Amino acid sequence: RRLHVGQKITVLFLVRKDGTHKLAGVRMPRRGVNTIEVGRTANGLFTDGLPDPELLTSKILENATETETTLSSKNNTKTQNTSPPSKETAAPEEIVRAIPTTRRMKLLNVNRGDTLSGLLKQAGSPGQDIRHAVQSLHPIHNPNLIRVGQKLVVELDIDRGQRRLIGMVLGLNKNISIVVELNGKQFRARKAPADALDAAITLVANIEAAHSALATGTYNPQTRMIYGFDAAESDLVDLRDAVRVKLALKPGDTLFETMLDAGAPRIDANAAITAAEKLVDPRKLKAGQNIALAFVTNPNEQPGTVRLAELAIDLSAEQRLRVARLHDGAFVSGLVYRPIRRENRRAVGTIQNSLYKTAVAMGLPPEILIKLIRLFSYDVDFQRDIRKGDRFEALYETYTDETGETVKGSALLYASMTLSGTKLAFYRFTLDDGFTDYFDEQGQSVRKALMRTPIDGARLTSSYGKRRHPTLGYSKMHRGVDFGAGRRTPVFAAGDGTVERASRNGAYGKYIRIRHSAQYQTAYAHLSAYAKDIQRAKRVKQGQVIGYVGSTGRSTGPHLHYEVLVNGKQVNPLGVKLPTGLFLKGTELVAFKTQRDQLRKAYDNVPTRQTLADKNDPN
Ligand SMILES: [Zn+2]
Repeated sequence: RRLHVGQKITVLFLVRKDGTHKLAGVRMPRRGVNTIEVGRTANGLFTDGLPDPELLTSKILENATETETTLSSKNNTKTQNTSPPSKETAAPEEIVRAIPTTRRMKLLNVNRGDTLSGLLKQAGSPGQDIRHAVQSLHPIHNPNLIRVGQKLVVELDIDRGQRRLIGMVLGLNKNISIVVELNGKQFRARKAPADALDAAITLVANIEAAHSALATGTYNPQTRMIYGFDAAESDLVDLRDAVRVKLALKPGDTLFETMLDAGAPRIDANAAITAAEKLVDPRKLKAGQNIALAFVTNPNEQPGTVRLAELAIDLSAEQRLRVARLHDGAFVSGLVYRPIRRENRRAVGTIQNSLYKTAVAMGLPPEILIKLIRLFSYDVDFQRDIRKGDRFEALYETYTDETGETVKGSALLYASMTLSGTKLAFYRFTLDDGFTDYFDEQGQSVRKALMRTPIDGARLTSSYGKRRHPTLGYSKMHRGVDFGAGRRTPVFAAGDGTVERASRNGAYGKYIRIRHSAQYQTAYAHLSAYAKDIQRAKRVKQGQVIGYVGSTGRSTGPHLHYEVLVNGKQVNPLGVKLPTGLFLKGTELVAFKTQRDQLRKAYDNVPTRQTLADKNDPN
């Protein structure tokens, strides 16, 4: 009795195969007070705490469809029988009533001279519906008694130009509202607490947001909340013996053609697409888009008759459109969660001839390798510092779907490089202000005033650890360092600063010089092109692309000639003592050390993916 209006309550259900629901638990977080949790135990009774995990697990297993996580290669996705889209009902979760995409709601304010009928008309309701709805009010309220300042929420269904009034909520005063609902063919009015109006107003905003998200093709948890999949499994065609086909949309193919190619009967493909169109414009699907189909056969029909039972389209990393067949042959659609799994992985390798080749052979995903190289570009000269026998370690997280495919970008959590016996290690940490960066063992930021490798280190062409040419390093004759890389490899600003020059400079060819401080400048020569907007007086950030590798000026092949200048004179970048970056202190340092130790432990506990490394000899 002490709960208050607006308080959030989570109700957990177990959903059985036949679609019936069973209450599993209730959760009530309260501001400043302990959360109340009540859950079902294995013997069916309720007690303090969330539902018995064992009970939930066993129920989940009973319902869950098999999800194999085989490492499927991408080129055999077509017509392979892969794991099915998992059923939304497999796990207990908040059940939110899905709202048809044809549903629209409007909030109106009562102004001087307004009538209820007038407002309903203004909202777009058909005249006949208005008369019936207003009539239904008579037993409880005189519809002529509306006052300036009252609020009215009107609910309509607009399906291909056909409008119907579905209901309304009128706020009478601060305690009472009147709710009118279409019940079958008749409108029924009842009095309700004032929060019925508040809930309706919230829904107006949520539906508008979800509707405009749909219109722009954005799918987020809010759109799923409003347009979730709402059919009971018991109403759907049984998918247990279904034949699953997973395929990718080919360039130039329509969804319809793709479905026909996969064996879907025309009539089914049409009906499924019509249901899908409520949530997605099939013409906006892109080539490569993953599509899953499920087919069933009916023993009562002619042998060989195949029916489409389900269509699933992955709309984003988390959202999936599910179109499923009801027993009567109609299709229903809605958004469901795309089940994704977060997993820590680690890679370790001894460099044979290049960091790039070794890392790839050890199964490090390319996007993680890029992050690793960027991370060490502050300290490591990727052209000269790496030798055969040097080692690297990486701990990273991945997000994969039920087929093992990576669905969204993953983060590098920890990385180390041991170069000629010296170990450099960095840990990912988020500061109190939300900024995420990497710090060494002692809590010092990896960032330095200048990067040692101001170029994408993964794209260096010559092998590591071999000084093939004496002028590769800095000398009295050659007052800079060279990075051999393919034409058009992006060149980064080594530090924050202002462009002093971006123009041809004799033997240097296309040349950029950046001033970082009164003392420090850096210069980049032989470029093929300048990046967009890079010109004199332009401010640049560290790591920003300023130009591209080329061979302009006096140069024998594509490479970057990089100079560091101190007080206007070229110096050996290796000998420059740079100002150090941010040092964590106080509570942030304490928090960092905890995080660092956790990451170390996590690294030790994740098994190396040895199988991949064995298959690919790093040489
Ligand atoms: Zn040079």
